[in-house]
Amino acid sequence: MKNIEQLVRPNIWALKPYSSARDEFVLDDDGTQAEGKEQTLVFLDANENPLGSVGDNGANNRYPDPYQRKLKEALSPIKKVATENIFLGNGSDEAIDLLFRIFCTPGQDRILITPPTYGMYQVSADINHVAVDKLLLNEDFSLPVAKVLEQLGKAEYKMLILCNPNNPTGNAIASTAEFEQILQAFEGIVVIDEAYIDFADFDSMTTLLDRHPNLVVLQTFSKAWGLANLRLGMAFASTEIIGLLNKVKPPYNINGITQELGLQAIQNVAQKEAFVATIRAQKEWLYTQLSQFDFIEKVFPSETNFILFRTTQPNELYNYLVKHQVIVRNRSTQPLCAGCLRVSVGTEAENKRLIELLNSR
Ligand SMILES: *Cc1c(COP(=O)(O)O)cnc(C)c1O
Repeated sequence: MKNIEQLVRPNIWALKPYSSARDEFVLDDDGTQAEGKEQTLVFLDANENPLGSVGDNGANNRYPDPYQRKLKEALSPIKKVATENIFLGNGSDEAIDLLFRIFCTPGQDRILITPPTYGMYQVSADINHVAVDKLLLNEDFSLPVAKVLEQLGKAEYKMLILCNPNNPTGNAIASTAEFEQILQAFEGIVVIDEAYIDFADFDSMTTLLDRHPNLVVLQTFSKAWGLANLRLGMAFASTEIIGLLNKVKPPYNINGITQELGLQAIQNVAQKEAFVATIRAQKEWLYTQLSQFDFIEKVFPSETNFILFRTTQPNELYNYLVKHQVIVRNRSTQPLCAGCLRVSVGTEAENKRLIELLNSR
């Protein structure tokens, strides 16, 4: 990897971040606003409303902790990542956007992605006016590692963004050893998006963080944790990269209610695991059922909470399902995904409904 300063946009490297009221005054050494002491302290530093909040809605008149320290402390043992290597964003989409803003100079820098993959990488690049080169996955949706390495040598890429397990295909695209080979060879930042890691049969690449300061691992509360509505995403990386994300983010990017509800969720890992077990069992059932239709040519194995399948009539099937109030994702225009629909694993009743509709077609 290059020296981090060589990778960061010069204006971001030089940036003096906004210093919020809660940055300048902290109560404890660890920065938390200790309970109890709040009563004796008079907070006249942040122009908040001293009387309370309008509405009976659990809101709070005080600005939230800009660094979400309690949440990170609770998350650290679960993820086996030190708090200083954790960043929390307003969805992982915020982390993706911030990484572009930190590393990629608009109109100048380029990144590499490997379609078919998650659509936000391209959108975020376009918003930031960053060029995107694309190298297709293999026909079996695995990562063509040798070709990726060759391509990375052809231009001064700032970032490589990979999704594992991959959306919309559902598979693991490479082994840990292969990711490590790329991390070693590439001079820039490698982002591995693990939005579906809770459903996968393999471990997170966070175990590689110690050895690879150019690695960023993204995870989210939107899928297995069932908190898509909250907007809470995680990025795990070197302290240098986390420092840059903190410098560039809006000061209070995670609101107080989200911090509170995120903390409650983390204290109930067992429920998340129970959800995962149920969804995995339902996925097996769906996989078997979908494999029996003669108009479905291929059902792709999945390490996620969705299944991609190839049919002879994707648009007809999609419209037929919509007509009967079942909405799936039509991925048939994506590269390597001709004829493909993607279906999220639903409840037992929802999955049965889908199969019934396919049966009575
Ligand atoms: C769903 C998903 C996310 C989650 O994004 P959030 O902003 O955290 O909701 C990220 N990456 C991929 C590949 C996804 O499919």
